[in-house]
Amino acid sequence: MIHQATKNGLYINGSWTQDENQEFFESTNPATGQVEGYCAFATPFQVNQGVESAKNAFRAWKNTPLPERAIFLWKAAQLFEEKKEHLAKTMTKEMGKVLAESLGEVGVVIETCKYMAGEGRRLFGETVSSGATNRHIMMVREPVGVVACITPWNFPVALAGYKILAALISGNTVVWKPASEVALSAQIFTEVFHEVGLPKGVLNLITGAGSKVGAQLAEHSDVKVISFTGSTEVGIKLSETAAKTLKRVSLELGGKNAAIVLKDADLNLAAEAIVKAAFTTTGQRCTAASRVIVEASVKDELLSKVVAITQKLKAGNGLESGVDIGPLTNKNQLETVEKYVSFAVQNGAVIECGGKRIPSEQGYFYEPTVLSNVKNSDRVAQEEIFGPVLAFIEVNSFEEAIELNNDTVYGLSTSLFTSSLHYANRGAKEIESGLVYINNGTSNAELGVAFGGTKHSGNGHREVSHHAFDVMTEWKSIYTTY
Ligand code: NAP
Repeated sequence: MIHQATKNGLYINGSWTQDENQEFFESTNPATGQVEGYCAFATPFQVNQGVESAKNAFRAWKNTPLPERAIFLWKAAQLFEEKKEHLAKTMTKEMGKVLAESLGEVGVVIETCKYMAGEGRRLFGETVSSGATNRHIMMVREPVGVVACITPWNFPVALAGYKILAALISGNTVVWKPASEVALSAQIFTEVFHEVGLPKGVLNLITGAGSKVGAQLAEHSDVKVISFTGSTEVGIKLSETAAKTLKRVSLELGGKNAAIVLKDADLNLAAEAIVKAAFTTTGQRCTAASRVIVEASVKDELLSKVVAITQKLKAGNGLESGVDIGPLTNKNQLETVEKYVSFAVQNGAVIECGGKRIPSEQGYFYEPTVLSNVKNSDRVAQEEIFGPVLAFIEVNSFEEAIELNNDTVYGLSTSLFTSSLHYANRGAKEIESGLVYINNGTSNAELGVAFGGTKHSGNGHREVSHHAFDVMTEWKSIYTTY
């Protein structure tokens, strides 16, 4: 059993381990500045040990019947239920999201365990009618080998769950490198699989700086798949490195998501949904709404509704009740938000609400901010800020709205608010995003539905649904002459 606020090592080959001279980094609370625990900086030797342990465990795990593999996921679902409160509080202390969101996120992990345990039983193959007599042909899905999962801090366990559980049920073994900001949460997640008795080496946890540990995993010839969620910049670097060893790389990257509001929309519904999508998780979601593209004739009315709802949001320590949004996850995030608001104002944007830090001795708090008079070409409308900033952009037609929505390098998520069947269907077709929501916020995901983005938001792979198996398996064609 691991204990918080102690120095925790790495999880390799079924045990928690650390060197005599192990170096550690702190995990600090972005609301209070308090140190919550220490996690190990893996050495290059330990990274290799993690990969070797996964490689050695692969054959036996691959040959374990799938229903038996699924039992570990069912048991894990049960144990996550028991550890829900502890894990959720650790997440809130590490990265700041409010406790209700953290509890919801553990709920997603529990449901993903159950979903993958069930969906895995449908890893069906195919048969093909042969051109030869007395020949039978079948195609089967096979696991690929060692999968390196590299995950961000904004959803410390849900995104890891999407990757790790799809990899494990398919018969792969895993080396997980979580974001350094949330390494304590990753330890609790890993401990669950230790306690349910997952065979040694099937899941390994390696913590440390992404630029070193993550980069080493991308170079390692025994790693066969990189499943990465994070920034577009790091995703591109990983692809370049992984190409040298012909690894498969699955990328879930950034976004610059818009809510399009047409003049025939239900403005109350749109305003509620937009505020939720913009400021939940303090805007630190890949699917957060950061642009509102609105028809000019309803802009003022929508803006005043959005501002009124935003001004009611209470920022504070996510562990306290009544708090709607927590701090930014680190100082760098806070400074990035300040920088973008200042760029916007220099370019003529108007601050409708928010626009400054919330005084706090130790926490990284920033007011939820709504800007108007923004042009789609402004940096605030083109670059991912990953913070509580929402920019209003006016347009004069549906066609112009679609054009501006698509005029970004990203293509993750778009909402379209309208009461017109015609525009809803045209929007669904013309919007260049992997996720399209009609009369709904930009930030929704359901199990069983493919999740991922187009353009610079990804590289064409999808998670969450059975399409995740396309990343985690490869096809083998078997010809039998009888
Ligand atoms: P990030 O800086 O790209 O880091 C993501 C992960 O990569 C972390 O584990 C990080 O480790 C590691 N890493 C950093 N540099 C690396 C390198 N050179 N080689 C290999 N690994 C490296 O992203 P973040 O700040 O944690 O997360 C925010 C980003 O994630 C945003 O762009 C957001 O849109 C995106 N995101 C996308 C989705 C989606 O599904 N599309 C979902 C959530 C988030 P360290 O923590 O140690 O640096």
